[in-house]
Amino acid sequence: MIDALPENGVPGDRILAELHALRAGDLPTHGGRLFAYVYDPAVDGLDELARQAYAVSASVNGLDPTAFPSLLAMENALVGAAARLLGGDRATVGSVTSGGTESLILAVKTARDAHPSIQHPRLVVPSTAHAAFAKAAHYLRVGLDVVPVKDLRADPSAMAAAIGPDTVLVAASAPSYAHGVVDPIPALAALCAERGVRFHVDACFGGWILPYLRRLGADLPSFDLSVPGVTSISVDLHKYAYAPKGVSILLHRTEELRRPQYFAYADWPGYPMINPVISSTRSGGPIAAALATLRSIGDNGYLDLAASTRSAVQILSDAVKNTSGVRLFAPPETSVVCLASDGVDLFVLADELAARGWHTQPQMAYRSLEPTIHLTVTAAVRDTAPSFAADLSAAVAAARARGPVEVPPLPPLTPEMITPEFVAGLAEALGLGAGDFSRMAQVNALLNAAPPQLREALLTGFLSHLQRPSSE
Ligand SMILES: *Cc1c(COP(=O)(O)O)cnc(C)c1O
Repeated sequence: MIDALPENGVPGDRILAELHALRAGDLPTHGGRLFAYVYDPAVDGLDELARQAYAVSASVNGLDPTAFPSLLAMENALVGAAARLLGGDRATVGSVTSGGTESLILAVKTARDAHPSIQHPRLVVPSTAHAAFAKAAHYLRVGLDVVPVKDLRADPSAMAAAIGPDTVLVAASAPSYAHGVVDPIPALAALCAERGVRFHVDACFGGWILPYLRRLGADLPSFDLSVPGVTSISVDLHKYAYAPKGVSILLHRTEELRRPQYFAYADWPGYPMINPVISSTRSGGPIAAALATLRSIGDNGYLDLAASTRSAVQILSDAVKNTSGVRLFAPPETSVVCLASDGVDLFVLADELAARGWHTQPQMAYRSLEPTIHLTVTAAVRDTAPSFAADLSAAVAAARARGPVEVPPLPPLTPEMITPEFVAGLAEALGLGAGDFSRMAQVNALLNAAPPQLREALLTGFLSHLQRPSSE
């Protein structure tokens, strides 16, 4: 148990030793065997540089750029680099946000507030769009129109049909997180332009690697501000720009389009508040660390990292193709390998891969789509990819031998039945009480069998169960 407020202060070296001991229980952020959550270029010295840059600006407050012009200069540099990479021109403007979710919430807010006369604004997205759009719609009370996809890609005619007089924004992905496929951005942008509706490209995931993959010759469509009709685009620097967590960029085609993003309030006795983003006080740490990362890697460095990623994707997807019991679920056209099962229990397979040191991300069934395993591939995987095939085939054999996981018998549940007591009992029964999350097949199978609203209730209950204050 950690006492966050000891009676007397504790020496720094002991505190750091405790932090390192805690971190030892986490999944490995380096080593090319973790396929979600972290992005590792495996570049020597980069971590240390980013840490030092973070420390330089950690206490600086982005609230007021006139007090801390260093942050304004760094943000303008980051936005400028993103604009250049993503087809912007002299009119392009943007903001640095804390992450993809914040960039998307702001894109939706900006579009909503551009139309004060629309009483019930709506957002149109393909069903493969990131869940953060649903969060944005929920937070902002914007209606959400989810349009079915065709072969995992947004379907322009179905998207066009979903646009109505209250639509303030249409969005699509480049690429989608779940499957790593790029939506037909030029066709969608054209139809939005024709209807006079803003069109946001969610390149949070791929925005810093797609341009390089295209330069390397990958057959991918145009997806950025060079496409007429794209009015805004987001890219997370804490993904394929390999910056530490906490930095994304939202670009708008023009300053006029960005204008409703700002929140200004001067009608109180304190300082007049003018915020471009959701947070007011903001640390300069992530911004300085991102700038250091970009400047250290450089354009040619990102091209090399994309080449490494591309060859790793090729090796991993060949391994999937050549292993009976699994198959590719989506074309590995960007930096994701998404696989499905041919006769083995996919969640048992994920556990068996984890037991062999490969940490993947199970994805639940969705409507007509079966469950899949997702691999976000980063440059670090170039060194480990060649050993994946043997472990995959061993994991498939082990999953076959174990057979499908048994879901504990449960009465028919509804979200209202998920009380704290129920969750505590279930966590105990599933062996999650002791905080060991290495064998998740049963949990995943149970969630997979539940309809989305029940999944949401179970996971909310479980997270709430975990998030309780520790006491001495
Ligand atoms: C990661 C991601 C997001 C959300 O970004 P966060 O940084 O996790 O808030 C949005 N869209 C896509 C496509 C993503 O991959």
